[in-house]
Amino acid sequence: MTSIATLGSHCALQVLKGAKDEGLKTILVCEKKREKLYKRFSFIDEYILVDSFVEVLEKQCQQTLEKNNAIIIPHGTLIAQMSSEQIESIKSPIFGNKWILRWESDRERKEKLMREAHLPVPKQVKSPSEIDKLVIVKRQGAAGGKGYFMTASEEDYNKKRNELIQQGILSEDEILYIQEYAAGVLAYLQFFYSPLKGELEFFGVDQRHESDIEGLARIPSEQQLKHNKVPSFNVIGNSPLVLRESLLDEVYKMGDNFVEAAKRIVSPGMNGPFCIEGVYDENAKFTSFEFSARIVAGTNIYMDGSPYYSLLFDEPMSMGKRIAREIKNAKESNQLDKITT
Ligand code: ATP
Repeated sequence: MTSIATLGSHCALQVLKGAKDEGLKTILVCEKKREKLYKRFSFIDEYILVDSFVEVLEKQCQQTLEKNNAIIIPHGTLIAQMSSEQIESIKSPIFGNKWILRWESDRERKEKLMREAHLPVPKQVKSPSEIDKLVIVKRQGAAGGKGYFMTASEEDYNKKRNELIQQGILSEDEILYIQEYAAGVLAYLQFFYSPLKGELEFFGVDQRHESDIEGLARIPSEQQLKHNKVPSFNVIGNSPLVLRESLLDEVYKMGDNFVEAAKRIVSPGMNGPFCIEGVYDENAKFTSFEFSARIVAGTNIYMDGSPYYSLLFDEPMSMGKRIAREIKNAKESNQLDKITT
């Protein structure tokens, strides 16, 4: 019997509930400190208890996964806590394309793939001395916005960077990525590409809520100036958004272009869930600053089905369930190799 395994964080509940609903066995790789939380949910069949998620790479854990014919569903925590080499060395099959995860973690590669997909990306600012307008400064990989900051001059860049180093949030030798700030309405566009059907599905849209940058907007401007710490973009949660219907055609085009670009440059392409992240400006023009080449936590808001999936499926369909359905279909038609790496 095929089982579904994932790390206990990010969107594990949704993924395992969806797998259980599809009749698959569910396995959670769970940090001991979180066992109590996950034990509250009855749809988790088996636990692999660890002190740290990197134990997934150890023989004992791999053996349990192998014995259960487990397929691992990768999510943001896997990327945040393991290097690309470590992820690529996992022996169990990974849903989607594990090779593309490296393209998500590395800023230069990320930009290359986004340009190849004709996504309108904000300009990169190569060095702090070239900062002459509002920019956002980011860390490598999926840091979930922690340690990011905005600035508009080299002097202020150095001041804020030093402050974050002193607070232990950034390290001295960390290479930061500077990008022009794109203002507008945040929209995280969630897709699923099925290599079995050769079809792209648009799942939904979410917005992220980030602290303490959002909290600042509630404070009068003169008090904001007294906020004597660098505001961060630490994700706290997500909320749903539906787009004007006239924007949907372009949304599908962006998704299609991304799938095509990924096929060309990171075989076997962008299989499974992914997300294009950006903002709509005052002319409803989209600028994309980021993609995630796997399920995003923003899909958690649609555990009982999304507005757009209710147009495609006559049953409640979460992203977790959609993944499990794809695995079931692949298994039945002997095509598991098409949907895993
Ligand atoms: P993830 O957890 O999605 O991998 P990440 O650490 O790679 O996140 P980004 O998604 O690139 O980080 O950025 C974090 C947040 O910073 C975004 O949600 C957005 O609010 C803001 N942001 C990033 N880039 C820009 C930009 N160019 N213009 C405006 N806001 C931006």
